[in-house]
Amino acid sequence: MIDFDFTEEQELLRESVAKLMEQHAPSDMVRRHDKAQTFPYELYQAWADAGLLRLPFPEELGGVDGNAVDLAIVIHELSRTSTDFTMGMGGSMFCGLNILRNGSAEQKAYWLPRVMNGEIILAIGISEPDAGSDVGAIKTHAVLDGDHYVVNGQKLWTTGAGLKNSVISTYVKTDRNTHYRKGMSLLLIDNDMPGVEFRKLDMLGRRCAGTYEVFFRDVRVPKDRLVGGEGGGWDCMMSGLQYERAVSAAGSCGGAQAVVDIAAAYAAERRQFGQPIGAFQSIAHMIADMQTEVDAARLLTWRAVWLVSKDRDALKEITMAKLFAGETYAKVANMGVQIMGGYGLNAEYDMQRHFRDARSATIAAGTSQTQRNLIAGLMGLKAR
Ligand SMILES: Cc1cc2nc3c(=O)[nH]c(=O)nc-3n(C[C@H](O)[C@H](O)[C@H](O)COP(=O)(O)OP(=O)(O)OC[C@H]3O[C@@H](n4cnc5c(N)ncnc54)[C@H](O)[C@@H]3O)c2cc1C
Repeated sequence: MIDFDFTEEQELLRESVAKLMEQHAPSDMVRRHDKAQTFPYELYQAWADAGLLRLPFPEELGGVDGNAVDLAIVIHELSRTSTDFTMGMGGSMFCGLNILRNGSAEQKAYWLPRVMNGEIILAIGISEPDAGSDVGAIKTHAVLDGDHYVVNGQKLWTTGAGLKNSVISTYVKTDRNTHYRKGMSLLLIDNDMPGVEFRKLDMLGRRCAGTYEVFFRDVRVPKDRLVGGEGGGWDCMMSGLQYERAVSAAGSCGGAQAVVDIAAAYAAERRQFGQPIGAFQSIAHMIADMQTEVDAARLLTWRAVWLVSKDRDALKEITMAKLFAGETYAKVANMGVQIMGGYGLNAEYDMQRHFRDARSATIAAGTSQTQRNLIAGLMGLKAR
């Protein structure tokens, strides 16, 4: 059986998120934050108040037991306004789910209510200056000293690491003398602990949640901040990445749909040579192609999150969705700028923001090349 409908509850969820965004995040507010490069804390609190941050967590811990499809619906809808804003929430959800999967009962009871009520925002600290696609090459390390780990090193590109009350899910080496996958551990480090310093990087896009470099100098982290046991970092990271990629594909689809909607409305309105530019076949066909590709990306994405929601092994499908959705967002945003001409590049219109924010969709959470390597590998090919 194939069913392409949302359930009634899911449709209600989508509508309520759309209404919330209309009310709390009108275009001028999004533009203001993008220009000032500030995070919309008041909107984040509105998401928390509406229960969105509770969505993927189990009822017994105060969540609402939503599945990957529910979360993808929310992420898609939020991303129609701003994939940048959505990333602030995405990171916190993914890291929270990591605590749910790998944390102790005490850790879940302590951290998850704080994630769900918006008191803290969790960030993901994997990448470093010399460890991008090759995540096993991280050098940040932690040495046990009594009841604390002493952490030294540097993270790079950490989304949201400098936000108010950010707690960084930091991947460190606790054993540098073993195979790199075995010696990795996960520590939860507040961004205001003594010895932590961060700097917001001047990036092309996603400037509100922000991309940070973070320095750790003799940071003393209590032992109870270790998630998944010493040496359990690689498994923690891998257990989270599939969910992260499936849901981040939904973000790219939401952003890409916004681009098509803006371009189609503009093409119907803008007149040149006595007719709407959408009446020129070259423009109309571009928009038809854009919508077709966005639909294809969304179908791959819904399939991937549906498989995740059924606890099915879906590595190939998730990777395909992440690859195609990210590429599609970047591609249609480029076409959207072309359709809008000079207005597409003007800061008073939203297209240029999508163009900038979309560009990282083929890089963040694993580049398109590494996704292709993985898909090819799952097809029995040894792509290096
Ligand atoms: C906006 C943004 C937000 C981010 N947020 C986070 C975050 O919150 N937390 C975090 O930990 N990281 C984050 N990242 C980092 C992101 O995960 C890395 O940028 C990404 O994994 C690539 O690493 P790199 O930039 O070092 O590029 P590199 O790994 O150096 O790659 C450079 C180029 O070489 C290619 N390449 C590398 N290896 C191979 C290979 N084996 N086969 C073929 N091609 C290859 C890549 O595809 C790329 O084109 C973010 C990045 C961006 C841009």
